[in-house]
Amino acid sequence: MIRPVFRFAPSPNGRLHLGHALSALLNADMARQAGGRLLIRIEDIDRARCTPELEAAMLADLAWLGLVWEEPVRRQSEHFSDYAAALDRLEAMGVLYRGYLTRGEIRQAVADFETREGTPFPRDPDGAPLYPGDAAVLAEQEIGMRAAAAAPFALRLDMGAALARLATPLTWRELGEDGQIARVAADPARWGDVVLARKDTPTSYHLSVVLDDALQGITHVVRGRDLFEATAVHRVLQMLLGLDEPVYRHHRLVLGEDGRKLSKSQGDTALSVLRAQGAEPKDIRALVGLA
Ligand code: GLU
Repeated sequence: MIRPVFRFAPSPNGRLHLGHALSALLNADMARQAGGRLLIRIEDIDRARCTPELEAAMLADLAWLGLVWEEPVRRQSEHFSDYAAALDRLEAMGVLYRGYLTRGEIRQAVADFETREGTPFPRDPDGAPLYPGDAAVLAEQEIGMRAAAAAPFALRLDMGAALARLATPLTWRELGEDGQIARVAADPARWGDVVLARKDTPTSYHLSVVLDDALQGITHVVRGRDLFEATAVHRVLQMLLGLDEPVYRHHRLVLGEDGRKLSKSQGDTALSVLRAQGAEPKDIRALVGLA
């Protein structure tokens, strides 16, 4: 029998809070119940915000919570060449392009559109505007000049070309709380031409998460509901790159007192703060609604 493989994959750009605790504990509980393995993956591709100190603090918080995982942990920053190789493969398939618009130019193009048309610019499931496309904003000559001058660009997935190449409706398997697996229809077109790499970060969350889940043989991706829609993009990349499809479980989020998703800046739900106030791991389980 193949043992199920679970992973908790935090980004060390702040301290762990109750939302992370729920995710980590659910992974650990499910791995234990299934007789499976538990891995930790450090998603530290953002070299400006992730630090070794925050990583060490995160691992200490997880150990305090009672998590036991296999060593060594995989650190994404040590594998940039794997992501570059995948980008080369996607480039060879003709599903990548260089987008030269800066964040400011995108913002301006969106504002101009909304003023002109009086309707909101199309947005992705996270509420960010879709990429307008260089040709919609810049003169052809300007695009040529930027390319010639090796101006910074983002490598974007040409979603239309990718979906045409796959030419099949995409789905994923979602494991419900009742233990049943349902097929969910994926709608990746809603994300538009997502960024797969930037000059300052030569990969992206979408690309590295998909590659690492496959490389590490993850069978069960258990993560927050906030990443439910992103799974559509992950399925596209898995299909293009010929990677195995894990089962997904998108769990409820722990919400703050304002009813909003917790963020790392909300210090009062940081595990380290709760611990300093005398909380025990069992109190954390209770706080996140686990028995
Ligand atoms: N690194 C991501 C985060 O901290 C989680 C990625 C995932 O579980 O797919 O939000």
